[in-house]
Formats: sequence, C-alpha cells, structure tokens
Amino acid sequence: MRVAVIGLGAWGSMTAWRLAEAGADVVGYEAGVIGHDGGSSHGATRLYRRLCVEHAGLVPLAERSAALWRELERVSGEPLLTVTGGVSIGPADSALVRDSLAVAAATDVEHALLDADAIRARWPMLRIGDDAVGVVDPAAGILAAEPSVLAAAAAARHAGATLHERARVDATDAADGIVRVDGREERFDQVVVTAGAWTGALVPGLGVTPTRTLVTWFAPRPGQEAQHAAEALGVVVVAVGDAWMWGHGAQPGGLVKLGPADDPAFVPIEPDDLLGSSDPRDGALVSRLAATALPGLDPTPTDVRPCMYGRTTDHQFVLGRVGERLTVGGGCNGHGFKHAAAIGEHLAEVALGAEPTVPLPFADATRFQAAATATA
Ligand SMILES: Cc1cc2nc3c(=O)[nH]c(=O)nc-3n(C[C@H](O)[C@H](O)[C@H](O)COP(=O)(O)OP(=O)(O)OC[C@H]3O[C@@H](n4cnc5c(N)ncnc54)[C@H](O)[C@@H]3O)c2cc1C
Repeated sequence: MRVAVIGLGAWGSMTAWRLAEAGADVVGYEAGVIGHDGGSSHGATRLYRRLCVEHAGLVPLAERSAALWRELERVSGEPLLTVTGGVSIGPADSALVRDSLAVAAATDVEHALLDADAIRARWPMLRIGDDAVGVVDPAAGILAAEPSVLAAAAAARHAGATLHERARVDATDAADGIVRVDGREERFDQVVVTAGAWTGALVPGLGVTPTRTLVTWFAPRPGQEAQHAAEALGVVVVAVGDAWMWGHGAQPGGLVKLGPADDPAFVPIEPDDLLGSSDPRDGALVSRLAATALPGLDPTPTDVRPCMYGRTTDHQFVLGRVGERLTVGGGCNGHGFKHAAAIGEHLAEVALGAEPTVPLPFADATRFQAAATATA
C-alpha cells in the first residue's frame, strides 16, 4: 500500500517509521528540514510521564510508547529515554493531585502517595506547603527531543521510506488520495497528515487552534547544582496556587527546564509567524512559579524560545480517520511527545486498516466536526 505522511515532526517521523516497518510503501513530506526549530518538537528534551493526568486512557499509550522508545533506541543506537522518576505535588484538594489519583485508581499504574515531610526528605530543593501531598510516578523520565525525531526518520528511511525535506504540501485531496507539492500531484492509497500546528491548514474543521508557547531554561544558584541535577530533581509537576509548573532537573552540561501548564502569554498564532515572535509577558509567569517553588534556582530564565502546539477545547488529541483515504494526527495540546512513538503506531494502524494496539476513542478525530454538525 502506498502511503503519504505529511509533516515529519515527532508524530510524523514516528508514523513513517511504523508504516515502513509494517511493509507500507511510504513517502514523507516535510516543509522544513527534519528536526527544525519552528514547530512543536524541537529543543533538547521533553518530559515522559506514565501517570498521565490528562486522561486515564493515555496510560496504556504511554506504556506502549516506552516499549517503542526502547525499540527505537535499539535500532538507532541512541539513548533517548532516561528514567528519573517523577512526582506531582499540590494540596490534596488541588486538581493536579485529585486528577492524578483518579487516573492512578482507574488504571492501576504504579504510583505512591507521599505527605509533605516525605516530599521534603526526598526533594529538599522544593519549597512546598504543609498541606502538600505528592503522587509519585516511578516510570517518569526525560526524552531526548530532537535526537528522537532524527532517529525515527533515520529508522523510517532504513525500513524503506522515502522522506522529502523542504517539500511543503500545498493541498491534499482526501477523496482521491492526491498530494499536491511543488506544482505536482502524487497519488496514494492513504494519506496521513501529521502537520502539528499546521494540521488545520491542510484539514479544516478538526477543532485545532495553533497556540504559541515557550521553552524556558533556568540555572541553579552557585552551590545548588547537585540538588537540581536530573538524578536529584527528576521530573516534577507542582501546583502553585491556581497554576501548575512542570519541569526536570539538569542533565550533564544542561540546565533545569521549567514551564507553566498554561500562561496568559500562550496565545493563538499563525504557525509560520512563530520564529522570531515575542510577547511582553514571555517568561513572567514561569519565573514567578520558579521563584516560589524552586528557590535554589535563579528565577530569571537563561533562555526563552518560542514553541507552539495545536490546542483543542477538551485538551485531548485529534487522532484517526476523517475520510476514506485520510488519517490525521493533531491537537497535541502540549503533552504529545511522550506518546509520539505509540501515536505513530496508532496512526499507521488506522491508515493500514488494522486494529489499533491502543484504542483511543476519546481522541476521535471527527468529534469536533460531529459537535459542529449537531449544533448547526
Ligand atoms: C514548549 C513545549 C513543551 C512541551 N513539553 C512536552 C513534554 O514535556 N512532554 C510531552 O509529552 N510533550 C510536550 N510537548 C508537546 C510535544 O512537543 C508535541 O506534542 C510534539 O512535539 C508534537 O509533534 P508534531 O509532530 O505533532 O508537531 P511538529 O513537530 O510541529 O511537526 C509538524 C511538522 O509538519 C510540518 N508541516 C507543516 N505543514 C506542512 C506541509 N504543508 N507540508 C509538509 N510539512 C508540513 C512542519 O514543518 C513540522 O515539522 C511540548 C510542546 C511544547 C511546545
């Protein structure tokens, strides 16, 4: 079967790899170069969490992804996933803790519950309230972001895929499996669109809004380096007031990465305008959260880089078939890197007409179209 994959960031490169491994004749198109810094997948790292507070149905996806990340490590010879363990911390009645415990109860995922004294003993660098509890996710860790994309693309090519770079698809005609690029038409049995924040430009009506965000890095104060190393801090998500901050400790030669779950500076954007964009509010919220929860860090970020993702109103992914020959993967909502390997498998299975290894009914790609039709 001849399958096109449009967009080769984390999701598309993994999809191309899984399709090629399944025996499909794969042609991938990437508007930039694979691993470029103008989409969602660039930078050094992403967090891996197994206890996915976003939806209980994502826990099996994260588990499946971990197995595929390890397979990609074997194929590529690159270390991609470093397990550090992680913890989500907040008052017992905070949404972060409540939702984490609800997901843990619904899935039986390995976890532990700590009180404030136990958190302070294990994470002395964190400043927390006496009412804080921590939900530990022992499988959490840090993914190498750009190396993962490059490794998946190389694995796809090794398995027979042809991947074109600097090849922006102008349009795709879902009914006929036609892909138009550089004034030419190519015909496919199936087309998969994994164009990140650009997905809605190629397939309108999916309910995905391109949203600008930031990647921000912080340096430990002098003498605080060991406390904030990856093996000490691990992966943390902390509720501070109504806000959440996620982050991980510094890897060798690196810095501490922190970001807010949401921010007034995260606004809709035209995806092509991302690079070079700025907002006067950039970095202000995360700096305040860092100063509150991690006083051993200099709260002024050392580096602030724009990034973006496709956002949906229910914060869930948009995955699956939207036409006889068309499958989409979009709406990552800022939590899709850890799942990229299994999402690639899922999209490949859907495009090939196979039963998905991990069913994801809550991410159905037609749900916003169905809602719009119902309210019309
Ligand atoms: C700041 C930030 C922090 C994040 N942190 C985490 C985290 O800690 N853990 C986690 O799990 N997730 C995290 N995420 C989310 C994760 O990075 C994304 O879910 C993931 O990278 C999505 O990849 P993608 O392939 O969908 O998009 P992209 O990487 O943007 O790939 C889409 C590709 O499509 C290409 N394209 C677009 N239009 C066309 C066209 N017409 N023709 C050809 N190619 C086209 C683009 O050039 C692009 O390369 C974070 C995201 C951001 C922005």
